[in-house]
Amino acid sequence: MSHIDVLSVAKLSPLLEPQIRAVFNLHDRLHETDPAAFAKIAPHIRAIASTGESKVPESLIAQLPALEIISGFGVGYDGVDVAAAKARGVMVTHTPNVLNDDVADLAIGLMLAAARQLPASDRYVKEGQWPTGPMPLARKVSGARMGIVGMGRIGQAIAQRALAFNMSVAYTARSAKADLPFKYAATAEALAAESDYLVVITPGGAGTRKLINADVLKALGTKGILVNVARGSVVDEAALIEALQNGVIGGAGLDVFENEPHVPEALRALPHVVLAPHIGSATTQTRQAMADLTFNNLKSYFENKTVHTPVPECAAKG
Ligand code: NAP
Repeated sequence: MSHIDVLSVAKLSPLLEPQIRAVFNLHDRLHETDPAAFAKIAPHIRAIASTGESKVPESLIAQLPALEIISGFGVGYDGVDVAAAKARGVMVTHTPNVLNDDVADLAIGLMLAAARQLPASDRYVKEGQWPTGPMPLARKVSGARMGIVGMGRIGQAIAQRALAFNMSVAYTARSAKADLPFKYAATAEALAAESDYLVVITPGGAGTRKLINADVLKALGTKGILVNVARGSVVDEAALIEALQNGVIGGAGLDVFENEPHVPEALRALPHVVLAPHIGSATTQTRQAMADLTFNNLKSYFENKTVHTPVPECAAKG
């Protein structure tokens, strides 16, 4: 398949790039690095390799008349214009399920870190402050109320873990899930009002933009802790900063931000916030599984026009 031209639109994982390069003719971000060379190769590009954060707008798809598949490394694909791809008959794939455990683990980790002040405790000991007295008391997690915004694959993995902490679990989603034993709330605000820990794990994109706004934060309340492992776009970051600064909520654990990798100084300065640089799926094992699935979707497509994990829009008939 070395004659098949593939364009990467982001820096690919070192676990993925060599796999693609060994089999296909990979043009690494050529549209950005060498537009003149890209103009010559564009008519021949048959595949795009993207990441969860990549932008694949209609304008790029329109420049690639031979494009057949966009294979994404990540479960989220809010940066891909799927409607434009579908209209052209272009397949879009992603990497669901293989990262559920890691993202759920991180959500629990951020909740514990924020509630039990783990980063502050670490600094307290390392900086020699312990002899001056004990740390301020923290908040209990076990037995508390968890609200999950988005009860899909990862949301359910988070719920499973919460049960092991004897937490009660409630959720909101676009629709109630009759097969799940958890209480459904119709809105994020209603859910926040009955949660001690509000964990956000929806897709990004237009449908969820600023779903967690000032009203939701107010409902979460002064002792409530927000955990966001979804996308930065789902939380109104300015409203969150204001809520944290004014004690409207008690704290936050955040893996994702509005303008990554840039995190506002106001957020970085807050002591009751725990921050992570978008590491939800960032373990060697899971990134390997994601890389293999991304590659296998590409390979399988060009071998026999089937893929393992199409995005729902491309799996649906019509
Ligand atoms: P999924 O199985 O598709 O679940 C998404 C859930 O979000 C569904 O329950 C869905 O509701 C709900 N939802 C969608 N729009 C909503 C809205 N407007 N209001 C309320 N709920 C809404 O997806 P997943 O595999 O769990 O992944 C979820 C997201 O996690 C990804 O899209 C990605 O953005 C993020 N993620 C982050 C990391 C990280 O590194 N931090 C890693 C992986 C994934 P219905 O069930 O009713 O349709």
